[in-house]
Amino acid sequence: MALIVQKYGGSSVGTTEKIRAIANKIKGYRDRGDDVVVVVSAMGGETDRLQGLADEIGSPLPREMDMLLSTGEQVTIALLTMGLSAAGVDACSFTGWQVPIRTDDAHGKARIDSIDAEHLKTELGRGRVVVVAGFQGVNEANDITTLGRGGSDTTAVALAASLKADECQIFTDVDGVYTTDPRVVPGARRLEKITFEEMLEMASLGSKVLQIRAVEFAGKYGVPLRVLSTFDDGPGTLISLEEDVEEPIISGIAFTKDEAQLTVLGVPDRPGIAYSLLGPIGEANIEVDMILQNVSGDPSSDYSATDFTFTVHRRDFDRAKGLLEQAASELGAREVAGNTSIAKVSLVGVGMRSHANVAARMFKTLSEENINIRMISTTEIKISIVIEAKYLELAVRALHETFDLDAEPEKVDSELTPLSEQD
Ligand code: ADP
Ligand code: ASP
Ligand code: MG
Repeated sequence: MALIVQKYGGSSVGTTEKIRAIANKIKGYRDRGDDVVVVVSAMGGETDRLQGLADEIGSPLPREMDMLLSTGEQVTIALLTMGLSAAGVDACSFTGWQVPIRTDDAHGKARIDSIDAEHLKTELGRGRVVVVAGFQGVNEANDITTLGRGGSDTTAVALAASLKADECQIFTDVDGVYTTDPRVVPGARRLEKITFEEMLEMASLGSKVLQIRAVEFAGKYGVPLRVLSTFDDGPGTLISLEEDVEEPIISGIAFTKDEAQLTVLGVPDRPGIAYSLLGPIGEANIEVDMILQNVSGDPSSDYSATDFTFTVHRRDFDRAKGLLEQAASELGAREVAGNTSIAKVSLVGVGMRSHANVAARMFKTLSEENINIRMISTTEIKISIVIEAKYLELAVRALHETFDLDAEPEKVDSELTPLSEQD
């Protein structure tokens, strides 16, 4: 007998038939003797619909936005609990505040501070399935908060951590984590497992199969996490907290069109420039992702100028451009240019640590496809490039092929014998 936290996403609870099917699926786990806590999202498209209603009215007050958006999940917990009852399973539903799931007060992107799971434990002790609304919590002022889009994943992982569950299972419309989004590359392959570190990179670089905070939480509290299909049986993908000695060089390709590029042209090249340009951006709470600055062309000249480029989230583009134009004119820079049709493509793999030529292979592939690279950034386990958005699919497919991601994984040769195997 195990304690399992299961999460069903929007497309899995999109119709009453699907909700009924999930109720029967959960009954299967109960019949085997498992204790089950279920977290559900709103019915597919519902959160967008609610957001659309708010856009029509205008004046999106943060507190009221959360009051509004959190209603989607309240519908599904009630329907699923009724479905369970119809299937002969004793169950009970909870909104976030009823648990309670305590958060900070950052409406729209709240972080979970603590969970008081006593209530849930009592219900489990009575032999009930507990159904909890994802994506929501309550702040100190007892106002409803939401955790950011995709936040039901984080609710599930946080509950699993709090209840010390044996596994947290994220059921969705794909049967696991793939080498890249299977909707874009039909040849994408399901991974048996992916390291927590890689999953964190994939999620933060654009793979929306798991919310970033859910992965962070799982890593911090050692929650065994698995992504599986709601509709087909199968092992899914395990997010593994341990690294094997032999990991593939590249595990996956993440991409996003959510960013925009800003360039200040003709900036005087002298100390303090980066601070003058980015200081106001930081003060306005706008996150900067990639930054590119070159030394000026002619260092011997008295007055030399350079270009300064960075990326921000697309939703912050207009605000960032306004701030930058002001800073740029104060500095005497020539011009501020912006581009909102860019895409970021990232190769992710812990095996990269011991392989030097990954970047070269990546750049060769893009050059063969005639795709211009606008920016590059690297860490130990990822290489990201910015390209024109219209080449995104071509780039991802070509890179998927170059790194043989549709075949069985390439292994890193283990140059070092693990300590455990040394004499
Ligand atoms: P849910 O509504 O169940 O939370 P999401 O739409 O948030 O589902 O996440 C599942 C989707 O994530 C898939 O349909 C797929 O298109 C997308 N996705 C992006 N990258 C990947 C990846 N590497 N592996 C699997 N799915 C991915
Ligand atoms: N319903 C919310 C959303 O659409 C939360 C979630 O599904 O995880 O983002
Ligand atoms: Mg999701």
